[in-house]
Amino acid sequence: MADRAEMPDDWSRALVLMAHPDDPEYGVAAAVAEWTSRGKDVRYVLATRGEAGIAGTPPAVAAGLRTEEQRAAISHVGVSELEFLDYPDGRLESGLALRRDIAAAIRRHQPELVVTLSYDDTFEGLYWNSADHRAMGISVMDAVADAANEWIFPELSSARLSPWQGVKYVALAGTAPTHYVALRQESVDAAIASLAEHREYLKALSPEPVAEQARAVVGGSVNAGRIELRVFGA
Ligand SMILES: [Zn+2]
Repeated sequence: MADRAEMPDDWSRALVLMAHPDDPEYGVAAAVAEWTSRGKDVRYVLATRGEAGIAGTPPAVAAGLRTEEQRAAISHVGVSELEFLDYPDGRLESGLALRRDIAAAIRRHQPELVVTLSYDDTFEGLYWNSADHRAMGISVMDAVADAANEWIFPELSSARLSPWQGVKYVALAGTAPTHYVALRQESVDAAIASLAEHREYLKALSPEPVAEQARAVVGGSVNAGRIELRVFGA
């Protein structure tokens, strides 16, 4: 831990690209709150609406519910834009279609920092990572190069999305960290409030009160006042 470097600060816009509503809240929302408090522009693009995520609630109902919960969640951490790619929850496949749509999102938002979730098979060898997270994470890594290249998805250029070569860093949450973001307590509190907005989702996961679940989850992702990330390009 001691040899981890501080996350570089020479960027102004970040795009968090993850599979589901609540994915940013589980791993990086405290860093997002910290960044936006320093004037950074942070936006979220989620591949699905998480409609298969609430046991007992049909996807047609859950999609709207989780969209609203996500909108409420971003208001606590200063995120400026939220977009959904509307892929089916639980059935994400890494492949050309997903890479193309992620590359298009990168071109639209023109971030210097891209943030996504680990695509390892497991988290710390303890928990199996989900099919959606694996498909999304690896596709995001590949789509950074796709966004910069005018020839891989020429249909994007004809849709007037110019290639974007400005991504300086890609940060992965939940795998062998190389860097850290130091957090003020306000940022940790904002992340807890952000996760707690996923009320219906959390209520279905556990009988524990939602606020306590949120505090425990965010506490688990914060290590000695830091969020740790694996950063490429630094
Ligand atoms: Zn997820």
